[in-house]
Amino acid sequence: MTHPAHVDVVVVGAGIAGLYALHRLTEAGLTVQGFEAGDGVGGTWYWNRYPGARCDVESVDYSYSFDEDLQQEWDWTERYASQPEILRYLEHVADRFDLRRHIAFGTRVDAASFDAATHRWTVTTDAGTTTASFLVLAVGCLSAAQVPDFPGLDTFRGEVLHTGQWPADGVDLAGRRVGVIGTGSSAIQAIPVIAEQAAELIVFQRTPNYSVPAGNRPLSPDELAAVKAGYAEHRRRARETFFGFVFPLSELSSRPALEVPAADRDREFQTRWDRGGAGMTRAFADILTDRQANETAAEFIRSKIREQVTDPRTAELLVPVDHPFGTKRPPIDTDYYDTFNRDDVTLVDVRSDPIVEVVPSGVRTGAATYDLDVLVLATGFDAMTGPLLRMDIRGVGGRELRDKWAAGPVTYLGLATEGFPNMFVVAGAGSPSVMSNMMVSIEQHVDWIVACLQHLRAEGHTVIEACADAEQAWVEHVNATAATTLYPEANSWYLGANVPGKPRVFMPYVGGIVDYRKRCEDVAGRGYAGFQLA
Ligand code: NAP
Repeated sequence: MTHPAHVDVVVVGAGIAGLYALHRLTEAGLTVQGFEAGDGVGGTWYWNRYPGARCDVESVDYSYSFDEDLQQEWDWTERYASQPEILRYLEHVADRFDLRRHIAFGTRVDAASFDAATHRWTVTTDAGTTTASFLVLAVGCLSAAQVPDFPGLDTFRGEVLHTGQWPADGVDLAGRRVGVIGTGSSAIQAIPVIAEQAAELIVFQRTPNYSVPAGNRPLSPDELAAVKAGYAEHRRRARETFFGFVFPLSELSSRPALEVPAADRDREFQTRWDRGGAGMTRAFADILTDRQANETAAEFIRSKIREQVTDPRTAELLVPVDHPFGTKRPPIDTDYYDTFNRDDVTLVDVRSDPIVEVVPSGVRTGAATYDLDVLVLATGFDAMTGPLLRMDIRGVGGRELRDKWAAGPVTYLGLATEGFPNMFVVAGAGSPSVMSNMMVSIEQHVDWIVACLQHLRAEGHTVIEACADAEQAWVEHVNATAATTLYPEANSWYLGANVPGKPRVFMPYVGGIVDYRKRCEDVAGRGYAGFQLA
């Protein structure tokens, strides 16, 4: 596809955010060009095809709400949709709204620079250049794979695969010895499925995680019909919650955990455990803000791990102790702990016996060499800032975004950054994004951006730029909000702690989506307060 010389808006990325942005922008009468590194739409759901990949937000919530016909005609088959089903859904959306014609696939954006004289961005891809009045970066929060710098990785004779870059044609693991490095959400989903397929599985764990059963199951036609009958109300309620989806609440949910007698507390945890999914952090009001309250939930999960894993030594290795429950994104699983009861699955603790190097035959720790045919890196992502900073983005006067964010991301509302006019980030650092149902956040961000561009057009403005003082105040607010929670206590990707040398800054906004939306609406209502329009 040849690039147009100039468009109103370039949208980078054709995942959930990029597709919705393209739809809304074209609907608003703007000319657009989308660029997507993958050969198809889907973003996260295009790249993460590892065995067992599935969403941790329920299907009926992890779907667009903007079109009533779309949500009525699509039938989700499971409580939590699998990667292939979500990808099919996004492909359907692209076709239904005729979005593919705006997208150059297999085209990676390398650089973008703003010209203060023409008020235009020049976007450079591996196939050419296009200028645009506005740049919308919909590149995802978890799209830059993090590959640890293991000495000798390139000498490995077998296959090395990252969960976030899984081959589209799949990988036949039958009869092979597979190693998985990591025990985050991706690994916790992949491990039980890989164990079923492989001859032998070795799991290299550095930090144990708290995993809760997903309780995945088929969605019955009656259930689906009931959701569809009340979809508008369901969406409205979801938008009024803290995270963007309706957790089952009880009369205990608003109470501090330690005010509730221990037996009642455990009954509440057990109810949520049996129901499955992400509700454990909402059992009591202070699980994510009070260390002792958190410990009650953590202890409950630890007891469940000890119950499920028959070998006491393995069970103790799987019990998390170094961070509060919920301060890393809580994984939800299907048969994760039970998988360690299999004779063909081995857990290696690389905290006490670190990986020294990868050798041609496998992985060598201080104490042993593990021979492998396939090495799966479930080692996560350079989250939130990685996908942006891997591009060479330059604002006014050639200033590099990499320089501006050298000590961590600095944004106004997560949507914009001073010195980089006419550039918007969807689900960026400083927005609720990964701390919310991404669907709800993405629709809100994109709607806000499109309304902003319509306002500029109506008022005859060609430039919008975040003001330094508004940005500074927002960053302070984001940090102060995070400091009221336990989140900063974990070495998580939220903090950049998983990438050596990355500044330790808590990136998402944890004030909740209702608070955030009100702030965004207030800014727009006051003529885009905190932005300079020209
Ligand atoms: P992750 O949570 O960052 O986990 C990476 C794992 O790799 C951790 O266990 C980490 O150990 C380990 N690791 C990294 N470098 C290592 C090294 N040098 N040596 C040994 N171990 C190393 O990544 P992820 O599992 O891909 O998940 C990232 C996020 O994607 C999730 O938190 C979630 O938001 C999203 N996700 C969602 C779903 C879903 O919807 N169900 C599924 C997958 C992912 P340490 O903990 O010690 O650093």
